[in-house]
Amino acid sequence: MTQSAKSEQRNQFHTVSLREILQAMPKVDLHRHLEGSLRLETLAEAAREHGVDLPSYDIEELRPLVQVVDGDPYDFHRFLEKFKLLRRFYSCREAVERVAYEAVTDAAEDNVQYLELRFSPASLAMTQDFSLDEVTDWVVQAVNRAQRDHNIAVGLIVSVMRDFGRAVAENVTEVAIAYRDRGVVGLDLAGDEVHYPGKPFADLFRRAKAAGLGITVHAGEAMGPERVYEAITVLEADRIGHGVRTIENSDVVQLVLRRGIALEVCPTSNLQTGVVRSLGTHPLRDLYRLGLRVTLNTDDPSVSNTTLTDEYVVAIQGIGLTMIELKNIIMNGVRAAFLPPREKARLEKRVAKALGLTTSARFRWRFWE
Ligand SMILES: [Zn+2]
Repeated sequence: MTQSAKSEQRNQFHTVSLREILQAMPKVDLHRHLEGSLRLETLAEAAREHGVDLPSYDIEELRPLVQVVDGDPYDFHRFLEKFKLLRRFYSCREAVERVAYEAVTDAAEDNVQYLELRFSPASLAMTQDFSLDEVTDWVVQAVNRAQRDHNIAVGLIVSVMRDFGRAVAENVTEVAIAYRDRGVVGLDLAGDEVHYPGKPFADLFRRAKAAGLGITVHAGEAMGPERVYEAITVLEADRIGHGVRTIENSDVVQLVLRRGIALEVCPTSNLQTGVVRSLGTHPLRDLYRLGLRVTLNTDDPSVSNTTLTDEYVVAIQGIGLTMIELKNIIMNGVRAAFLPPREKARLEKRVAKALGLTTSARFRWRFWE
């Protein structure tokens, strides 16, 4: 072999990076908001197309208004502010359908095999006074189309916003229950955790649970473990959105353990909302090693400028999880999915095989099975 042929052969060898390994892994995302998944290109392009009034139609000028950027203070309410401008975008059926379709497409491209995509019908409906039913219908149809076009399964979660008031919450809950057989698998409580406790919504969440929906509640994010306690004991949550501040109270840790409650952890979001000061001090590893059922998710990919692959990189390089811990956390995601038992078993088998794990009894959750 000549010298140049040898060097050419050497150049063909490619060191596989950690990112590439993680990108290729099958993934499960249980906590992703549709309203936080808008591609910036789509925002600018479709806004111009549909005559949405925006301060600019230039992506770089829009970026700091809808995405956390360098120099932004990491603060919970500031993070929520980013969604206000985004609400203007839902100006017509095409815009809502496009966002829903692209959110699923982007997850599939990141090798997410099962996605639970949550959306707030009231947020999508409010700008143009659409009905909650019609916006839900548009999301369901677009998501079904995206599922057929890509290699991904999607369950929808309807979000009740804490700060939209009781009357809206009632209507949103009814819509979620009505769509139970058409793709909606769960009900979520989201929004401003600081000023709006969960208790006023208790009867709605119990009604949804009785109707067969999974219950997940944002808690223990901006507020402490007392909100996690409330979510479990008053709202009957099966899963907690974030829940990272559970670690601050050992009684609540024990309650979460005993009930087999899954925590939907989203590290980059936690950093940007100021819940943790740095990734190095994120409690994910401690929660996992205490035996809690932690899962890893994105929250708002476009607002946080992240992907699930990015979150896996963060979990290993920023937080210090091992590869096997990460794989177990992916399996936690499968087991905490709001899927019927048979579908869950199929997904479990497929993902475990792709991760090189066996679905042994030690991974089984007594609570779920
Ligand atoms: Zn969230």
